[in-house]
Amino acid sequence: MKKVVKTDQEWKSELSDEAYRVLRQAGTERAYTGEYYEHEEVGTYICGACETPLFDSTQKYHSGCGWPSFWTELETAKITQKIDKTHGMTRVELLCSNCDSHLGHIFNDGPKPTGTRYCINSVSLKFVPKK
Ligand code: FE
Repeated sequence: MKKVVKTDQEWKSELSDEAYRVLRQAGTERAYTGEYYEHEEVGTYICGACETPLFDSTQKYHSGCGWPSFWTELETAKITQKIDKTHGMTRVELLCSNCDSHLGHIFNDGPKPTGTRYCINSVSLKFVPKK
């Protein structure tokens, strides 16, 4: 897939204010408020900025953490991991590898078989229901 590169001004005009703040400025939506936190439909979650498929609904689980959580990603997603030392913590940030937009963070307290929790902002995603 061809990498999506847009200017800050282009992203700003295409995204909602909240999506821009989270996706392009590495913000975080308020816990328990996101559209997909308790969302259980069958389908695919795609990048909220460039629409690359990132997660399947079968990869989602209830973590109780306040944000949509996934135990793995689609093989084709190739989500980028980057060390994030902001807010006095060392965490691993997740970025869409296709457009470098911020998705969330990854933690090692997830369920089997991976033990991984992809903690993702709802506003960084869009949902495509299975037909
Ligand atoms: Fe993207």
